[in-house]
Amino acid sequence: MLHEFTGDERIAYFSMEIALEANIPTYAGGLGVLAGDTLRSAADLSLPMIGVTLVSRAGYFQQKIDSLGRQIELPDIWEPFLYTEMVSAKVGVQIERRIVWVGAWLYRVKGLAGTEVPVILLDTDLPENSIEDREITHFLYGKDAEYRFKQEIVLGVGGVRMLQALGFNIRKHHMNEGHSALLALELLNRHAYQRRDLRPGESRYDLPIVRSKCIFTTHTPVEAGQDQFNYEMVDRIADSDFMDMENIKKLAGDDCLNMTRLALNLSDYVNGVAKKHAEVSQKMFPEYQMHAITNGVHAHTWTSEFFAKLFDDAFPGWRHEPEQLLRIHQVPEAELWLAHTKAKQRLIDRIRQASGSVFDPSMPILGFARRMTAYKRPDLIFSDIDKLRSIAIKRPFQLVMAGKAHPSDKSGKQLIEEIHSHIRELADLIPIVFLPNYDMSVSLDLVSGVDVWLNTPLRPLEASGTSGMKAAFNGVPSLSILDGWWLEGCIENITGWSVGDADILDEKNDVSDLYNKLENTVLPLFYEDRPGWIELMKGVISKNASVFNSHRMIRRYASEAYLI
Ligand SMILES: *Cc1c(COP(=O)(O)O)cnc(C)c1O
Repeated sequence: MLHEFTGDERIAYFSMEIALEANIPTYAGGLGVLAGDTLRSAADLSLPMIGVTLVSRAGYFQQKIDSLGRQIELPDIWEPFLYTEMVSAKVGVQIERRIVWVGAWLYRVKGLAGTEVPVILLDTDLPENSIEDREITHFLYGKDAEYRFKQEIVLGVGGVRMLQALGFNIRKHHMNEGHSALLALELLNRHAYQRRDLRPGESRYDLPIVRSKCIFTTHTPVEAGQDQFNYEMVDRIADSDFMDMENIKKLAGDDCLNMTRLALNLSDYVNGVAKKHAEVSQKMFPEYQMHAITNGVHAHTWTSEFFAKLFDDAFPGWRHEPEQLLRIHQVPEAELWLAHTKAKQRLIDRIRQASGSVFDPSMPILGFARRMTAYKRPDLIFSDIDKLRSIAIKRPFQLVMAGKAHPSDKSGKQLIEEIHSHIRELADLIPIVFLPNYDMSVSLDLVSGVDVWLNTPLRPLEASGTSGMKAAFNGVPSLSILDGWWLEGCIENITGWSVGDADILDEKNDVSDLYNKLENTVLPLFYEDRPGWIELMKGVISKNASVFNSHRMIRRYASEAYLI
């Protein structure tokens, strides 16, 4: 079954989460969507890759919201056999001095021209394992640090062993974030010299050869966001023969096993996910050369069918070469507006079904959806309720929001409750709906159906952000803090609007600028200059969608990292 894939040399893409399709809950947010878009572009472009991830049978979680606005988390169980094929190989990894068996499922990412990219989903839920070990690949980002570390052993070490057992010929290993960095230790062990005559200070390990086989993309611009494990636990759980602590400490840090450091030390090519993020990461890690490859989104996945039809008629090759969208100005205004109206109606229908609220298609809809966590500041727009009211009285607008908070992120859950109290507080004037269970399907309806995409993170914590890029494929402008990709994508009044200053961090100024732009620029343009608004939509498509797509991104990875 796998012979069709094992002939060519491949790039192995390791990611803790991959968004394969809306019904497979093996992702939590942007990192997983990026991984999925990367593999979808690789399939379209016939780039020989293979994805490696965990099967996450219980998903991330299903989100419900109770009447008080509190998040309820339910397991999101899926059945791998409905979407994948079982792979016969099994490999063992050592965890807490015992062998844990790892099996696998094969998912096929199908490209537009028929090429398939295989994805291996690692699974410890096998009868030969103990009940406890069978759970290791159940919950994405679940439980505690020990559980996470065991998952990372399965992903990194189990993943490399599985690829070998299946006969894959791997040219490079690409680590999408540090979770899979143990793969580099596994490679280091494989390439260790069998020498007994080592002199003091001489290493058995062949670092250059391992580095030449590893690529690392970092996504977290703060130390606290990186996976770090204390060595007492590492010693207790990891394979004692794997490598001596002294060597591990040299590569992963003296105080704790820092997965980002480990990945940095064992990769020849290291990059951030936007220019600004690469700069910030370079300052954090001055001893490594940090490249910048700005993220992109998969055109075909993130364009609503209404705009896809429009693009198909005007530029038949746009899915293969999104650069063709540069010429969007050839499309008549009325057709563009009609496509948007249809996408907007679809969102309005979804909002009605989910909440009973009936949004007015003639009024603008602002959208905000992301992981609910403090730095994303979903509450920024509610900073001054009186001001928000005065803006809405002059020119009414509607707001739709969505997002999950990680089960152990208390402040994230608090934010969801606060949003719900604002929804009640403003109900007499501003229609606001929170759509539960943010996933790929909700995301597509939101980014294509709103009129303005709102993004208000705390600078410089948004490494890239990708939902604004999805909006761009649907002609939806962003109103966004200048951080991540928006520093590269924003051309004021042409692709959308900036909020706040790019250099000076000032929360008060972020708030006043947000209200100022909304009141004096965004809403007047929507209500009083429709041709100007449609011109803006064309600006977004021609200048943002043509650039911030995953075809451009993967071509850069191919020529700058994979093929050298
Ligand atoms: C695109 C997407 C994200 C990432 O959006 P950001 O703008 O990077 O926060 C997260 N979750 C889902 C379901 C998405 O589709």
